[in-house]
Amino acid sequence: MTRILVVEDEPAIAELAAINLRHAGYEVLIAPDAEAAQGAVDRVLPDLVLLDWMLPGRSGLSLARAWRGEPRTKPLPIIMLTARAEEADKLAGLDSGADDYVTKPFSPKELLARIRAVLRRRAPQALDEVVHVGGLTLDPATHRVTALVDGHAREARLGPTEFRLLRFLMTHPERVHSRDQLLDRVWGDHVFIEERTVDVHIKRLREALTPLRCDALVQTVRGAGYRLAEAVRAST
Ligand code: CA
Repeated sequence: MTRILVVEDEPAIAELAAINLRHAGYEVLIAPDAEAAQGAVDRVLPDLVLLDWMLPGRSGLSLARAWRGEPRTKPLPIIMLTARAEEADKLAGLDSGADDYVTKPFSPKELLARIRAVLRRRAPQALDEVVHVGGLTLDPATHRVTALVDGHAREARLGPTEFRLLRFLMTHPERVHSRDQLLDRVWGDHVFIEERTVDVHIKRLREALTPLRCDALVQTVRGAGYRLAEAVRAST
């Protein structure tokens, strides 16, 4: 489930956001200040943070800057929430590393649209959208992975870890991911698993994709990690 952290000190606004987000299928956590937000992020990385600019004590802006400077929180999608609507403030917000900016009072519909747009750009694996790469189709809603083989749809048999691994790779195609990054993004941060575990699941993933003739899409990049290619280069 996609988890959103709402950092907002005004209970009515936090509740309004939370109700609408939960209704849209997100799991919501509320933090009333920067300290509580940092605590929540230290425990479990959310998929996205709605971050109020003006908080009692440390500001949302300062928090966003700090998160962008830490390797663990650097990729965290952030939408700044603010009562300020001036252009200079907007630029400062985006400058701090926020991905987008929503002005209060916001319409719930607009907020949801912005969240989906930021997730699509920054964390597409957090959206329940069907993904197509290199002839493979992955449907998160049905957990089905299929490809056309000689004109017939064939389904891969994947374990839950292979499914999550493939989903992450398909939503970030062509990029090289180190074993360490894959552990963080697929297994979850704070898990202490040997990097070799990644190799085991990559091997299983290739085996599961072999009947679909898509195993060669999963490529080993020596000394760097793994990559999912958008197409397999024909051998000559
Ligand atoms: Ca506030």
